[in-house]
Amino acid sequence: MAKLNLNRVEMPRQEPKARAKNFNEVAQGYSLEQAMEEAGRCIQCPKRPCVEGCPVVVDIPEFILALREGDMPEAVRILKSKNALPGICGRVCPQETQCEEVCTLAKKDAPVAIGRLERYVADWERANMGEKKAKTNPVKPTGKRVAVVGSGPASLTAAADLARFGHSVTIFEALHIAGGVLMYGIPEFRLPKEIVQAEVEYVASLGAKIELDSVVGKLMTIDELLDSGYDAVFLGTGAGLPMFMNIPGENLNGIYSANEFLTRVNLMKAYKFPEYDTPVKVGKRVAVIGGGNVAMDSARCALRLGADEVYIIYRRSEVEMPARREEVENAKEEGIQFKLLTNPKRFLGNEQNWVVGMECYEMELGEPDESGRRRPVAKPGSEFVIDVDVVVVALGTTPNPLIASTTRGLETSKRGTVVADETTGKTVKDKVWAGGDIVTGAATVISAMGAGKRAAEDIDKYLRS
Ligand SMILES: Cc1cc2nc3c(=O)[nH]c(=O)nc-3n(C[C@H](O)[C@H](O)[C@H](O)COP(=O)(O)OP(=O)(O)OC[C@H]3O[C@@H](n4cnc5c(N)ncnc54)[C@H](O)[C@@H]3O)c2cc1C
Repeated sequence: MAKLNLNRVEMPRQEPKARAKNFNEVAQGYSLEQAMEEAGRCIQCPKRPCVEGCPVVVDIPEFILALREGDMPEAVRILKSKNALPGICGRVCPQETQCEEVCTLAKKDAPVAIGRLERYVADWERANMGEKKAKTNPVKPTGKRVAVVGSGPASLTAAADLARFGHSVTIFEALHIAGGVLMYGIPEFRLPKEIVQAEVEYVASLGAKIELDSVVGKLMTIDELLDSGYDAVFLGTGAGLPMFMNIPGENLNGIYSANEFLTRVNLMKAYKFPEYDTPVKVGKRVAVIGGGNVAMDSARCALRLGADEVYIIYRRSEVEMPARREEVENAKEEGIQFKLLTNPKRFLGNEQNWVVGMECYEMELGEPDESGRRRPVAKPGSEFVIDVDVVVVALGTTPNPLIASTTRGLETSKRGTVVADETTGKTVKDKVWAGGDIVTGAATVISAMGAGKRAAEDIDKYLRS
């Protein structure tokens, strides 16, 4: 057997000092030589554990082999036959806990950089083939109509597969642009919007129609869609409702939900104000409460918008932080300060009702709670004040209740998520499937895509039966 190459090719990135002042992409992508060298590390093991580790079951060794052999169109074909959004996944998927975690090389040292290679192939396609070339062969139309509600990764994946199966698909999106969190949440410096829109266009090129500015539950209900002739409905409306701490002072001016802050910055392009109309107040000392990807993104946006000091306030330790390790490291390199084992008790305001400070507890970790993580407990008498002029609350989200409250016979959980079968996405309501964050609560792009794929298969089976 050939000797294992354990030297993973590093991803070129903008220098921390420079990137902390701009919204250009941090990770700059492999060159051809770097991609070839990294692809050469894949040992093409017959067990293919990476494929099982991928929720959309991409034929990973095969696309890497085609890349290694220089057959780029074939690498694109293999990748896109399972994944309609490879440029997105190659950038934001947590590969370290999916395909790369189970890579055979990971048992010895660094796994093959599958995500980076996926990104390389997707970017090569955009630069060299145009978005529409990887179209699958035309299929005979089935005459069946499917309404897909929302246009995040769950819906785009379901729509792509349903269109490939020959069904007539219409996506209804509440916002003025398609893409869901990929457009309004994840910042440009991690996921350029041009790439999201290129992949949305690819889904449209497969035959999915996209109706923007269409709030289902207001303009029409799910029952009205079914009555108007749709044969099935897929719900992929995500979890866009922010959670708050419900502590004194939380409605002072200068305290944002991460949803509002990131939507202003990303979707409405506040970072280009006044060229774009939407402003955002950032201030000089910004506290972001939370330890997930949303918190890291908010903190890094605030820094780029000119804050002098940006703190991550997290009630557990770094070990328990749910954010991707790579993004925690990026944030630290850029100068974000981590105040761990710290939890706000109340917010302090001035006479004009603007936030000026935050009284916090020092925390310690007790016994594990139901999530398996050690429970944070406030140390009595440990209160101290941090001066701040803007706070961003990034504590998680739940589904907006609009769909559940306007749809007859849909079952929801105590958390407000829609109840659906884990393997098929079927809800208890006839002709209605659901997947992504609306079912799981806030999760990941690839888990939403996996759910969209499984639901599309089940809808297809139902429509053909
Ligand atoms: C800031 C941020 C950073 C993140 N970073 C990462 C990351 O690095 N890696 C990762 O894997 N995951 C990340 N995530 C999580 C990931 O983006 C989500 O899990 C994923 O987008 C969920 O996909 P979805 O299709 O279920 O819903 P969404 O992406 O939320 O899309 C739902 C869509 O439905 C639309 N909609 C809602 N209600 C209606 C209605 N009534 N009618 C019509 N349309 C409606 C919404 O406008 C939206 O466009 C991040 C999330 C955030 C907020």
